[in-house]
Amino acid sequence: MTRTIILPLFFFLVAISLFLSAASKEEKHQVDPKTCIGCTLCVQACPSKAILMKDGKAIIDPERCINCTLCVQKCPTKAIRGPTVKPAAEKKTK
Ligand code: SF4
Ligand code: SF4
Repeated sequence: MTRTIILPLFFFLVAISLFLSAASKEEKHQVDPKTCIGCTLCVQACPSKAILMKDGKAIIDPERCINCTLCVQKCPTKAIRGPTVKPAAEKKTK
């Protein structure tokens, strides 16, 4: 009886861990350091506190980013790209 419960439970836990692993690898927003001017507007806009400044450039922590796109809307140089936002340089060539 115990065995009939433990085996499905084991497979359920394996499935959950695989799902969570795949979700954590989802593409998140990123900053192009060449375009970032270090204005910190994205840092102030981020509701998840996912953006840090390092050496005058913004860096997004993918573990915290929820892909809300608020930083993209605030960035004056279009330095932030995400799953649905192409980099500024790529847009100019098309
Ligand atoms: S997309 Fe949203 S959560 Fe992610 S870094 Fe930008 S403002 Fe923060
Ligand atoms: S808003 Fe844009 S330019 Fe300003 S710090 Fe963030 S990424 Fe850099």
